[in-house]
Amino acid sequence: MAMLHSAMSSGISPVSILTQTSFDPYEPVLRQALGDALRYLKEIEERAVRPDAAAVAQLEQMCGALPEWPEAPEAVLEELDTLGSPATVAKNNGRYFGFVNGGCLPAAMGAAWLVTAWDQNASFQVQSPVAAALEETALEWTRQMLGLPQGTGGAVVTGATMANFTALAAARHALYTRMGWDVENDGLMGAPELRVVVGEEAHPSLMKALGLLGMGRSRVVRVPVDGQGRMRADALPRMDERTILCLQAGNVNTGGFDPAAAIVPVARGAGAWVHVDGAFGLWAAASPQYRHLVQGFELADSWATDGHKWPNIGYDCGVALVREPAELRAAMSIDAPYLVMGRQREPADYTPEFSRRARGVELWAGLRSLGRQGMAQLVERTCAHARRFAEALHAAGFQILNEVAINQVLVSFGSKEKTLRTIARIQQDGTCWCGSTVWQGRTAMRISVSSWVTTEEDVERSLAAMIRVAREG
Ligand SMILES: *Cc1c(COP(=O)(O)O)cnc(C)c1O
Repeated sequence: MAMLHSAMSSGISPVSILTQTSFDPYEPVLRQALGDALRYLKEIEERAVRPDAAAVAQLEQMCGALPEWPEAPEAVLEELDTLGSPATVAKNNGRYFGFVNGGCLPAAMGAAWLVTAWDQNASFQVQSPVAAALEETALEWTRQMLGLPQGTGGAVVTGATMANFTALAAARHALYTRMGWDVENDGLMGAPELRVVVGEEAHPSLMKALGLLGMGRSRVVRVPVDGQGRMRADALPRMDERTILCLQAGNVNTGGFDPAAAIVPVARGAGAWVHVDGAFGLWAAASPQYRHLVQGFELADSWATDGHKWPNIGYDCGVALVREPAELRAAMSIDAPYLVMGRQREPADYTPEFSRRARGVELWAGLRSLGRQGMAQLVERTCAHARRFAEALHAAGFQILNEVAINQVLVSFGSKEKTLRTIARIQQDGTCWCGSTVWQGRTAMRISVSSWVTTEEDVERSLAAMIRVAREG
């Protein structure tokens, strides 16, 4: 009763909050969300990419004590839009070049809304036939776009970190099974050792995945790399059937690819499991112009990639793929009396999660809207933008530190101090956003062109701002 009184005294009908009513409880809030979203997307075209300090300070108003009483959904959403929207980073406006962040394709965004309305639990066929079917299809389409072997299967997960984790769990299972050790049941205590080989410039999230799997973040053999971060094929250690070799397709700084064609046959010939971290780079396979870069990676045993990077699916979307899906299934599936399954693929048998949202549907929708040609164009367009950045910044007198093979550009504005100062001022200026990195000892600004939204005009506007700011300081 107290609850009802309070809600009434605050002018909110308790009935609409606490019980099902005859009118559609979703309609007002969904209409409001649509209006807010459309206005947001329009406004970020001209807003500074980075939110200002005042907008961030306002977040405090939403971070108070746990509310005691219910609030109307429309009021909750209004609070989110009024206080939350201004404190976002304008990711979908075409001039965000930080990390390797794509935008969100309209079809994927629309699908995400519908998927939320569906509220499917994408764990089993019986809970969601549509989620199960579209996840399987999206995995198959991904396999084809990446040029991977027929029969490859996997799982849609939250990102490349989890995709690395998932695929490497299959690797761990396969290698231990060959040694007669049941790693899922008996764990790693007392187990024979595996040896993990990675490149000197492997992504730190790969190390995290190895740590989570009990294989150790630093208990790895590191292979020397060249000036683009590519593993040196002549510097590989001896490998055997207890070895997991982790290659990289697309270094997060340079965009460089390990020489897979030279390495994978040797490693697999020695009995090693070859895994590929191809968070964004593997998608170069979609373009005839860039396909040569991924040659040889299709010979590996497992692959990790992201839907939310180059394909612009929106967060969160990663993909783990394994040549022998049975190895992944053995690592991930569980039995319970209430799990009586048919013969179809059960999503939860291939993922670390059990209950999960139907993110495979968004991947399906994004790939459905792009098609093979659309993905090829997205790759080619973003790479062309990256080349334009490199050429113009070089012409303006700044140093490009990498071979701009795909969509990543590393630029130095001079000394470490000058470069960091310039990056801070570019971020402050707000026309675009780029982050800093250290590439083989040199501080650099990293430009990653990964968004479908970015136009030539965005590139020219961003270049003008970068060059103006750099010359000022
Ligand atoms: C981004 C990236 C990752 C991590 O991916 P998340 O989706 O952020 O988990 C791993 N490896 C490489 C090469 C990357 O570029």
